Amino acid sequence: QIKPIATPKRTKEIMEQFHFAFKKSLGQNFIIDVNILQNMLDVAGVTKDTNVIEIGPGIGALTEQIASRANKVVAFEIDQRLLPILEQTLSPYSNIHIENQDILKADIQDVWANYFADEKPVKIIANLPYYITTPILMNVLAAKIPVSSISVMIQKEVAQRMAAQPDTKDYGSLSIAVQYYTEAAVKMNVPRTVFMPQPNVDSAVLHLQMRKRPVVDVSDEEYFFRFVQACFQQRRKTLKNNLSNYFNHTFSKPVIDQLLANCEINGKRRGESLTIEEFAQLANQFYDAEK
Ligand code: SAM
Repeated sequence: QIKPIATPKRTKEIMEQFHFAFKKSLGQNFIIDVNILQNMLDVAGVTKDTNVIEIGPGIGALTEQIASRANKVVAFEIDQRLLPILEQTLSPYSNIHIENQDILKADIQDVWANYFADEKPVKIIANLPYYITTPILMNVLAAKIPVSSISVMIQKEVAQRMAAQPDTKDYGSLSIAVQYYTEAAVKMNVPRTVFMPQPNVDSAVLHLQMRKRPVVDVSDEEYFFRFVQACFQQRRKTLKNNLSNYFNHTFSKPVIDQLLANCEINGKRRGESLTIEEFAQLANQFYDAEK
């Protein structure tokens, strides 16, 4: 039995041995509780038939747990200083490949072709660097990378916004952007005390189950997402007000009333009350009227 990396003692030892200093600018908060990592793998549903992409392995705490349950792990790490550390800490495992790349610039398809030719389902599992959580997730979703699910530890408030339902304070354009592609759920809360060093925020594990196709049919995806953002531009304002602002050079107020009426949506409602189906119907209506 190998001693896990995710303990306060072992993490400190590794840091000292390699004279490693955390870089706050890279979101380096390492997990020091192995139970949390194992619960994460339960949430993700990893078996020997799963391939995994990890983002930001750090000193390998999560990577080794994934490796002992999965078929293969490819981990993207931007910080070159961690490479010799990972080489040592992960030496007992032969099913891990580390890519020294910025995940926001990496050609994931290329790495995929090299390592995941066996066609087993691929999942993303990560304790993400919090300063770029949203860009990382939106890049993966918009690029339609064919992963089957994404299970990530992120800031609690962001997880809640991504998984939020209509008529809640957390519901907004981010909820729609994520739920267009996935079924989203917050699976567990994680206190800041299980990280070294401790971050200033609490965390949660967000599980995103990819849909086979987007949950609604939209005429134009970019148009749809901009339309949704416009409806949330000023949260306290009515749908009609936000839309009149956004379309003030395109449609007169009576036309906007008519387009809302065509969808049987009351313009006095607020954006936060609309389901994704209603947003899609309305955006398609405006799109057709603009053509
Ligand atoms: N997985 C480890 C754990 O759970 O203890 C470390 C997680 S730490 C929150 C985030 C990791 O992401 C750090 O190792 C950091 O160097 C890495 N990272 C930051 N920005 C990155 C980027 N753009 N691309 C790839 N990795 C990045």
